[in-house]
Amino acid sequence: SAQSVVTIMHLVVERFSQQQSRLHLHTEDKLPLVSVSSSLIQQAIFNVVDNALRYSPADKSVTISVKSLDTDNKHPQVSIEVQDQGIGIRADQSDSIFELFYSVDAFKRNDSGTGLGLAVSKGIIAAHQGTIQSVPVEQGCLIRICLPACRETLAHGKGGNVS
Ligand code: ATP
Ligand code: MG
Repeated sequence: SAQSVVTIMHLVVERFSQQQSRLHLHTEDKLPLVSVSSSLIQQAIFNVVDNALRYSPADKSVTISVKSLDTDNKHPQVSIEVQDQGIGIRADQSDSIFELFYSVDAFKRNDSGTGLGLAVSKGIIAAHQGTIQSVPVEQGCLIRICLPACRETLAHGKGGNVS
């Protein structure tokens, strides 16, 4: 059903009890709704934020930005970007991290996970006709999720100015 990404993001942030102070959420004022399963999308984004917190220093913040992408007005999208200030992901591993049980060697430590999180996220996002990718950045890791938005709600948010 039609959901607000802002509401979803607040629910995700709430799940990180002690780490919440490291999370900085930025949302645009007028965002279109998305037609999704709220609980599944929450889980998909949770996995990405969990990584950002886990694979970057405890004294560094994680920035989450939610934006509207309506380049051609025919395929409105909402993007959710999670940016950390950790060691980042090498370009040659940017696809592999979304595979089942994949873990970058440098992180094979006691606190590294099972390598399931991003594979689950990718499956959930794909099931919603969205995309998830690691975007090359100078510092840290940037994961971008794009979800198709509901057209009608975009038209409403823009004052109904859609032919
Ligand atoms: P799980 O999420 O199942 O507990 P995991 O975190 O190891 O385990 P994924 O979330 O799928 O698995 O991530 C896969 C691998 O990608 C991680 O093990 C890590 O090596 C790398 N990775 C993911 N996110 C980041 C990040 N923000 N910075 C650096 N490396 C990352
Ligand atoms: Mg993980």
